[in-house]
Amino acid sequence: MSPARAKAAKAGPEAGRRPGPAPSAPGAGTPGALSLLEAVPFACAAYARDDGALVAANRRFDEEFAALPEHRQRDRLLALLRDGALDDAEPAEVRAPHSGRWYALHWGEAEHDGRALALLTAIDISERIEALDSHKSQQEKLLFTSRMMSVGEMAATLAHELNQPLAAIVNYLNGSLRLVDQAGGPAQVERALQAARTQAEHAAAVISRVREFVRAREPRRDAQDVHAMAATVLELLRLEAERQQLRIDTALSPSLPPVYADRVMVEQVLLNLVKNAIEAMRGIPVAQRELRVEGRVNLDGEVEIRVCDRGTGLSSAEQDQLFSPFFTTKNDGLGIGLAICRSIIEYHKGRLFFEPREGGGSVFGFTLPHYEERAH
Ligand code: ADP
Repeated sequence: MSPARAKAAKAGPEAGRRPGPAPSAPGAGTPGALSLLEAVPFACAAYARDDGALVAANRRFDEEFAALPEHRQRDRLLALLRDGALDDAEPAEVRAPHSGRWYALHWGEAEHDGRALALLTAIDISERIEALDSHKSQQEKLLFTSRMMSVGEMAATLAHELNQPLAAIVNYLNGSLRLVDQAGGPAQVERALQAARTQAEHAAAVISRVREFVRAREPRRDAQDVHAMAATVLELLRLEAERQQLRIDTALSPSLPPVYADRVMVEQVLLNLVKNAIEAMRGIPVAQRELRVEGRVNLDGEVEIRVCDRGTGLSSAEQDQLFSPFFTTKNDGLGIGLAICRSIIEYHKGRLFFEPREGGGSVFGFTLPHYEERAH
């Protein structure tokens, strides 16, 4: 007897009413026409219309729902699955709390031995729901990346568009000031024009700073030495590491070829990963606080940089959300660091990844193309 069936059998007179078939002989013992339920290829159960009690169910229903004590009573089962909504006229998509699987529930009418029955079929639609979810999160990621990029573009466009009219305003003001000067006054107009020119010049200076900033942020890729980038980042974080009494080891293969990368952007990624690794080890005993930065050419021939910590690691639910924008487990976290890192690495045609570290902790790593093999 299956555990679910054993449970149902032990559950008293109510369950006793259920003539559940033995696994070896599907349908055996189910009264008459109700043994047909066994032929249905998804979970299927019949409930009495009058008192809502379970009358019969197929093996699949037992396997998937018998673990819920509520399955023996239609209203209790519906209340659980549909959050209290007892209406069974509409088909519903629900999540079974005990298994986490998604079902489409359909109800039909039947009669057996003069008794009105409600027939429930529960079709497992988890795969479809998961596919939809992953499509949605993919869309969100794309949206986020394009938003990040459009902020830069918008700033560049605004700066360009505002620059021209501001230059014209300053010219007109200068011309007006000359005219007022030639006409010998009035002094108040001259003062007002001078004040307007100062303001316009100030606005032009702000705009030109924005333009410089945006230009400076435009990626510039060329041959970069991984050792030099790692050294810059580790030097920036040296004090923080000392404060937390953690050891940093580097294991960069001496034969790493130059990568085709924007130095500032890749340093930004590495900085973010090493900072996260340091933060992940805050709560563990000092003796275990060990951070390792590795660099090697992997089996696919890519340059791979890995940041390994001995922190608490990540649950599988956390791993699923890791690179989604705004996912954070920190009180003061923003949850955009890894999403930006991923955009940057993908822009470089590389791959950002996470894997659990052997012996405990996490590995966050990324790949970059060789300078020699870059695509033009
Ligand atoms: P933030 O640091 O602002 O939370 P991130 O995008 O950098 O944003 O990180 C998102 C989340 O990923 C963190 O809140 C943390 O839960 C998890 N995480 C990142 N790096 C590590 C790590 N090395 N070890 C454990 N968890 C990590």
